[in-house]
Amino acid sequence: MSANPHESTGSILEVECSCCKKKTNHKVLAAFENSKGDEILWIENIFQIIQCLGCDDISFRSESFFSENAKPEIQLYPNRELVEGNA
Ligand SMILES: [Zn+2]
Repeated sequence: MSANPHESTGSILEVECSCCKKKTNHKVLAAFENSKGDEILWIENIFQIIQCLGCDDISFRSESFFSENAKPEIQLYPNRELVEGNA
């Protein structure tokens, strides 16, 4: 029950940019982590403020991990047409 270290402040993520209309590298400007529960049932949320390295646009990204789900739920604001993780 620990977040990926590459999700933290200063790291680079490939995220779809609504301005560039494609996946671009985004720098994580700030990352916050919040987890609840016990060893059996738990939820972990990661909140990130990210900046596109192509157009400097700022976005908000959140990742939610549930103990019962294999895949994290990823949300981006503003919303993208294609949201990663929903394939
Ligand atoms: Zn961009």
